[in-house]
Amino acid sequence: MRFSRLAAVLTAGLALSLAACGSSEKTADQQEKGGPGSLVGVTMPTRASERWIHDGDNLKKELEGKGYKVDLQYAENDIPTQANQIENQITKGAQVLIIASIDGKALTSQLQLAADHKIPVISYDRLLLNSPNVDYYASFDNFKVGVQQATSLLTGLKILNPDGSPGTAKGPFNIELFAGSPDDNNSTYFLDGSMSVLKKYLDDGTLVVKSGQKDFKTIAILRWDPATAQRRMEDLLTSTYGAAKVDGVLSPYDGLSIGILSALRSAGYGTAGQPYPIVTGQDAEVASVKSIIAGEQYSTIHKDIRKLAKVAANMADALLTGKKPEVNNTKDYDNHEKVVPAYLLQPVIVNKSNYKKELIDTGYYTEDQLR
Ligand code: BGC
Repeated sequence: MRFSRLAAVLTAGLALSLAACGSSEKTADQQEKGGPGSLVGVTMPTRASERWIHDGDNLKKELEGKGYKVDLQYAENDIPTQANQIENQITKGAQVLIIASIDGKALTSQLQLAADHKIPVISYDRLLLNSPNVDYYASFDNFKVGVQQATSLLTGLKILNPDGSPGTAKGPFNIELFAGSPDDNNSTYFLDGSMSVLKKYLDDGTLVVKSGQKDFKTIAILRWDPATAQRRMEDLLTSTYGAAKVDGVLSPYDGLSIGILSALRSAGYGTAGQPYPIVTGQDAEVASVKSIIAGEQYSTIHKDIRKLAKVAANMADALLTGKKPEVNNTKDYDNHEKVVPAYLLQPVIVNKSNYKKELIDTGYYTEDQLR
């Protein structure tokens, strides 16, 4: 009896010390594979737009807060630069890569290199395409962004009331359409979302694209460049709007909206007799929120990128500690090689009536920043 009890105690002790040994081995193993202290490579497309600067800063803060080292790079919209940055991060021993691409299709060999080194890849905001080596996607509901942009265009024109019921205005209204960069997968999601709402009104003549330019390739603005959008708006005003007026512009990004508004201003819009058309946007960038407050731009789509950084950092942390990242969508983001498991956040329409609630009360901006 005594003997067997002793044996039991010994066995339990052995099991405990084996478990302890296992767990310390696991820690060492995890460190090799990337436990706390290991390096996360973050690549962002450009500093030309405010949002990506905040994205980079937020990611760095979140990841460093979890004990990781961060290599944060910006490629200033140059694809070979971004490809080099990713290769360098692999060479430096990054254990996870978080990538917001410039051209979603241009990084397949870097992604293969990452896979060869068993480095997981998180696609950030924009989906990486044509590669099986994309493990997770952290973004917003991009189709919904487009739906909201179109909905706010209709609300601004008073075709719809804010509650979605039919408004007093019947049109016809002249509108023009702009889309994002053709190499950014988000651009088609935004436009498809918008067209799912606008189609009905274009079909029944409430809305008229007076230039006739509706095709994605024609209306897309390479690299989301504000100056290109401004030139296109100037060309449209010259070619199509002699005596006629533009009533609305579907713009998918605040930077483009600023270029568009500037073209309109030069053509005499923005006065009491000739107000600006309803112009939409995205990102709630400071200059555009100020423009909304001043009654120029009509709306923007707010995406709380503080939350996006948290989602991506949690994904990285899960991958580095042997856990499964949390996802909430496993069907909508097919990158042509696989459906990438995603965590999608919700966007919000912001205009003059709710910017305080959405942007100031939430601490996204201070009142001073918007003065
Ligand atoms: C992002 C938008 C941004 C645009 C231009 C898109 O991929 O989702 O938030 O406005 O790029 O930077």
